[in-house]
Amino acid sequence: RAKSAGGNRSELADPEADARAITRHGLTTALPTALERGEFFIEYQPLVHLGDGSVRGAEALVRWLHPQHGVLGPDRFIPLAEHTGLIVPLGRWVLEESIRQARAWRERHGGRDAGPLRINVNLSPCQLSHPGLVQDTVDILERAGVTPDALCLEVTESALIGADDDLLKPLRRLAEMGVDIALDDFGTGYSNLANLRRLPVSVLKLDRSFTQGMQQFPADPVDLKIVEGIVTLAHSLDLAVTVEGVETGAQAEQLRVLGCDTAQGWYYARPGPPERLHDLALADAKG
Ligand code: C2E
Ligand code: MG
Ligand code: MG
Ligand code: MG
Repeated sequence: RAKSAGGNRSELADPEADARAITRHGLTTALPTALERGEFFIEYQPLVHLGDGSVRGAEALVRWLHPQHGVLGPDRFIPLAEHTGLIVPLGRWVLEESIRQARAWRERHGGRDAGPLRINVNLSPCQLSHPGLVQDTVDILERAGVTPDALCLEVTESALIGADDDLLKPLRRLAEMGVDIALDDFGTGYSNLANLRRLPVSVLKLDRSFTQGMQQFPADPVDLKIVEGIVTLAHSLDLAVTVEGVETGAQAEQLRVLGCDTAQGWYYARPGPPERLHDLALADAKG
């Protein structure tokens, strides 16, 4: 007891911990006005086909341009937004804004129907259990004149572990409409592989930790075997495999040889403004 009391006291006296708590509190209370004032913006990171190197789409990654703290990454504020429920309107804004962007890309591509650019949007577990999800998504797509097959919603593996049917129902509805569902950060959640059959997903996004294991060349043979096994299983279940965190050409080549379908990472491009993605896709279409 005495020990833990002492521990607590020293924690309270830790000025850095104090500052962190204050910032967290300050950020939490600032979130609603930040949304009203339009302080959030989205960066897009291309998704590249490993077979031919073409840009197939992009993942939307939200940022907060905070008036005092500058640009904050999602890890700083998404957990706070989830805690307060603001994630529901914030997530709806991200969806609306990135679908509007997908529409703009398509138009600039000369309106080619299926256009090369699809959009991936992250969904938090709170959005999944919010009753408005399906209707909001339908409305946003219709208003933008974008077909459901242009959208992929990313849900983390950990959000779906042990998910009951009520939680899966909205995802099933969306999947039936033609929206792709991706299982994000796959391989970190210790989920039962047999469970995959139950989930309405069509894409596995292999977590960055697997890609990191391939940084050295030749890569660790055990890492290679694991990825190879996951890819084989995924393909046998008709799932596409996307890999995140590809930072070198050697990684990209190994992942291609292992049969991964799509890749994302700094080797291709860092997340950036929407114009950059358009340029990349155009260069790609010409080259
Ligand atoms: P995520 O969905 O797994 O997104 C991939 C993260 O990896 C992004 O971090 C991206 O910038 C980073 N990344 C991409 N390529 C590389 C690479 O080659 N090397 C390294 N080291 N990192 C790379 P970011 O943008 O900080 O986002 C972090 C997480 O925040 C995302 O992980 C996602 O879970 C969440 N997030 C982002 N935007 C949203 C959103 O609109 N809604 C919700 N609910 N979550 C979001
Ligand atoms: Mg994601
Ligand atoms: Mg991911
Ligand atoms: Mg990740």
